[in-house]
Amino acid sequence: MRNTLRLLVVALALLSLSSGRITAQQAVPHPDQYFGFKIGADGELARYPKILEYFQLLAKQTDRVKFEELGKTTMGNSYALLKISSPQNLAKFDRLVEINRRLADPRTLNDAEAQKLIVEGKPFYLVYATIHSTEVSNGQAIINIVHRLATENTPMIRQILDNSVVLMVPSQNPDGQHLVVDHWYKTKGTNYGRVFPDLYHKYVGHDDNRDWFMFTQKETRMNIELVQNKYHPIITHDMHQQGGNGSRIFVPPFTEPFDPNMHPLLRLGQATVGQAMASALLAEGKEGVAWEDSYDMWTPARQYMVYHGQPRILTEIANSALADPVTPRKGQPIGPQESRAHFPVPYSKDTWTLGQQVDYGITAALAGMSHVARYGTEWLGNYYKVHKDYVNPTAGPYAFIVPAAQKDPFGTYEMLEILKFGEVEIHKATAPFTANGKQYAAGSWVIRVAQPAGAFAKTMLEKQVYPDLRIFPGGPPEPPYDVTGHTLWMLTGTTVDVADKPFDAQLELQKTIAPVPGTVAARPKGAYLVSPDSYGFFKAVTELQKANVPVYRAAKAFESGAQKFSAGTWVIPPVPAAQKIVENAAKTLGVSVAATDRVPAVDGFRLKPNTKVGLWKGAGNMPGGWLMWMLEQYGINHEVVKSQDFTGDLNAKYDVILLPSGTSKARIVNGLDPKRNDPAEWSWAFGVGEDGWKKLRAFVENGGTLLAIGSSVETARELLDLPIEDALPDRRPAGASSASADAALRDAFSSPARLMQTLRDRVADPQSLFYCPGSLLANEFDVNNPVAWGMPESWPVFFEGDQAYRLRPGFGVDTQVVSRYPMKNVLQSGWLLGEEYLRDQANILAFRIGKGYVVTYGSQIDFRTQPRTTFKLIFNALFHGPSTPVPAAQMGKAAATATNEQQ
Ligand SMILES: [Zn+2]
Repeated sequence: MRNTLRLLVVALALLSLSSGRITAQQAVPHPDQYFGFKIGADGELARYPKILEYFQLLAKQTDRVKFEELGKTTMGNSYALLKISSPQNLAKFDRLVEINRRLADPRTLNDAEAQKLIVEGKPFYLVYATIHSTEVSNGQAIINIVHRLATENTPMIRQILDNSVVLMVPSQNPDGQHLVVDHWYKTKGTNYGRVFPDLYHKYVGHDDNRDWFMFTQKETRMNIELVQNKYHPIITHDMHQQGGNGSRIFVPPFTEPFDPNMHPLLRLGQATVGQAMASALLAEGKEGVAWEDSYDMWTPARQYMVYHGQPRILTEIANSALADPVTPRKGQPIGPQESRAHFPVPYSKDTWTLGQQVDYGITAALAGMSHVARYGTEWLGNYYKVHKDYVNPTAGPYAFIVPAAQKDPFGTYEMLEILKFGEVEIHKATAPFTANGKQYAAGSWVIRVAQPAGAFAKTMLEKQVYPDLRIFPGGPPEPPYDVTGHTLWMLTGTTVDVADKPFDAQLELQKTIAPVPGTVAARPKGAYLVSPDSYGFFKAVTELQKANVPVYRAAKAFESGAQKFSAGTWVIPPVPAAQKIVENAAKTLGVSVAATDRVPAVDGFRLKPNTKVGLWKGAGNMPGGWLMWMLEQYGINHEVVKSQDFTGDLNAKYDVILLPSGTSKARIVNGLDPKRNDPAEWSWAFGVGEDGWKKLRAFVENGGTLLAIGSSVETARELLDLPIEDALPDRRPAGASSASADAALRDAFSSPARLMQTLRDRVADPQSLFYCPGSLLANEFDVNNPVAWGMPESWPVFFEGDQAYRLRPGFGVDTQVVSRYPMKNVLQSGWLLGEEYLRDQANILAFRIGKGYVVTYGSQIDFRTQPRTTFKLIFNALFHGPSTPVPAAQMGKAAATATNEQQ
């Protein structure tokens, strides 16, 4: 009786509480009311700060939403996370996270224990609404989604709240949301272009979703560290938009190829959620839903989650002109009109508005969430099963071994840090051991494949063998969605061995990864000597320059004491400022510093003090953005080249001008259109005209250094009449980049007639036999050439639809081949067709023109700054070009004088 009474009291209390809540929830303003327009209305876009304000209001006034700012973005904006569920689930949030964490590491569980956790747990559905900032509709759709989750009591919403936890990142690129939406409002009613003309992420622009294995940008790192690795969601939904002329929305399943390291259950998870979305959309009469189209599952650059037990759900909704009203196409329906197995209902209307995009986004997201909530135990069960297979792999090597002695310890550190950041467990040997018949020193690292993040370790450390996919058997290649090779040790210049069989070793799990400090000799009378092998050491070089310490490099190999030093060795006067910098370099970069009391009599060069670089970033050029990030990371004294620079003396302002891939003559001469872009903001990116083009040529002839990468080699050739010609058959339309050729090929699939035409063109064209869409290819280096100082004699470089070169006779031009493709085994990781075209052809070339110095990098050795060890090739050149030769007889004297000057 007493118990019944108590229950009654509790029930009454709950009732009053919940009714109180209902009142509070009713007080929450509807988005239309709060923002002052219907979300998705033509001509209106809710701004990011106000969206966050609204979410904070929902968090305050309801018991279903929690708001958290996880940190600040690259440009100082708020990076936020919402946790949405029933109050009961939110009350035990930490316990639910603990369950996810335990299921993600089955080594500490038996099946019975796991089953209990699966029944107790709730699936976490992570969604991020926008990463590509011109894809605006999803960032608007989430306003209504969150409002509905926070206030609605329909069976579907209750299902989601009671049986799952939604984690929502309102924007994966808040900076871009500011830039794009602000620009769009600012240009309203003007003749200026409405689309923000520059990169909508300060450094990486649209490549912000290609950063999910190198983890270079703040936003990526916050998401991985503070969301993915912290909460272990069981699924991630990545909301995007695609071009306006295809299907209205893409949902999974994806198309070939799938990275073999992706667990098959994840493919099925993608398919079931994608089809639940398709079903909900079609049930609401939303036409134009497609799957198994264009989007593949190959590169980890876009899909961190699939190596951590989660299906990746991609939705791609057709775009229009931001929020500008669209003109109807006079009765002509949009997109493909043929019903197919993977595209059952073509879109029948001739308009496509922002409002529709918002509605498609809401339907798809809620359908995905409610599907996962409804089958929560199955989802948690599969999450456990996938991780159980990760820790008990049936195939693949036993481990990867990273020998302790490495040419560049900094590259090894960067590789291990990336793996560790991706949750890979790394062991270090405390004693020597033998594996595969090879002896390894204590201090070597071992990365076992059998571990929860084993799939990530494996995809990053093995060589990619991309399937030879053709449009039809024997036909032209089917382009991948992105690049095909990403072997991390090749990118960082590290030696890694594969051990197929288990071995015995005394191993210690590493809690943190830090550089192994290098040795530093006592401060000598002569000079510090540092090998040229480490790309990391350039961080110290720029510090030496800032501290006004003269920096020398030996032009040839030499011996000092019993030690051999290779060409390019750094010779640094032992002034107090230098001592501090090299000691710090040993600690933070793992570089060893030797010393000599007598500076060797070897020919050398003295770096120009404060070597100044002008980066031709241009507006909207992603390779330029990535390079800006790289230059900043290394403290290189640089500035973005402005068209205003051309009114003065270029040589007085810059020692070096760096042309990233994508810097064509047209971009230099024409730049942004002054009629379409406000001069107050954009004049720096206006064209320099034909006069400016001539000034750029004069910059080189007068002694400037010009570095040209990827497609800008063509620009440099045109500018300076370089004595080189293309070695590869051209499969591109005139003037187009390989990326747009690939887009054209994808586009060909949009209609059978265009497909047939493409096939005829390609088959009739033997030139289509050369194809390399983003792979690692072997290069042989002349390590005595200043550009390749510190490189191994052979090492892979990145190649993405690029060009190789052969020399032609040139008068008055001194040409040196820095690197070339070998006679065999060119492909190291990824996909390459037509290897024979590359054999023995030149990649990197150096030229003396007038008083100037030019280096051309035929392949994109800096692609997205992912290939790190080849940074050396750029850094070497930019310091070498403006340097001064120092004859052997004066080398010792010069260094000693500098020492005296400094003391
Ligand atoms: Zn996108």
